[in-house]
Amino acid sequence: MLALMLLVESFFPARPWRVSRVKRLGFHGLVALLNQILMRFIFVPPLMWLATTVHAREWGIGPALGASGWVDVIVTLVLFDFFDYWMHRWNHNVPLLWRFHRTHHYDTHVDVTTTLRFHILEFAASTVFKASWILIWGPSMLAFVVFEIAITFYAMFHHANIRLGPLENIIRWVHMTPRLHAAHHTVAVRTRDNNYSTIFLWWDHMFGTFAEADDEDLKTLGLTEGRNSDLSLKWFWSAPVKLGP
Ligand SMILES: [Zn+2]
Repeated sequence: MLALMLLVESFFPARPWRVSRVKRLGFHGLVALLNQILMRFIFVPPLMWLATTVHAREWGIGPALGASGWVDVIVTLVLFDFFDYWMHRWNHNVPLLWRFHRTHHYDTHVDVTTTLRFHILEFAASTVFKASWILIWGPSMLAFVVFEIAITFYAMFHHANIRLGPLENIIRWVHMTPRLHAAHHTVAVRTRDNNYSTIFLWWDHMFGTFAEADDEDLKTLGLTEGRNSDLSLKWFWSAPVKLGP
């Protein structure tokens, strides 16, 4: 998906880049690589252990209702995407969580490489959230892995700097689009504190957080601070302990 979106961005870009795309891929690739190494050792094993244990002991609402096979996969996908909507909303509204999540928003360009840009402490918090979702629903390992793959694919799709043309309005019936997600990355707070959905756009419509940005808003992405340091590792990692909003 990363390779595909990099390719599509080359042909149908929505916004011009002011810095080298190779440099952005290099920086965000390095961040993602270091995150992945830490995740494999620290966060993934306990989460996988929890998912296997919960499933084996048939804990959670899913097994209680007799959900299995494809029903479990589909319900897990929709339910966990709904939970993900709220996690993202809290990432913006809870000051401590925003300290981790703002690292992602410091990016002054938004393209598929932005999907690789998260602070390790945001992953620590999301591991705790995901553990609670597993305990609530009790998905099978297959259902949980399908959700993880789907959410990664959709995040790569809606971060991509691509112009969808007439497809934009069709995809919006169901899914978050790159234009709507770019609105979530504007410096302008009116649109930034909106459009939290990842896979299904329904949640934003349902909970009143859908916002459309105009072309002027979409010209300035990122946050007001650190605009020249978005590709600095020091600035990136120290985001949670920095002063300010
Ligand atoms: Zn956000």
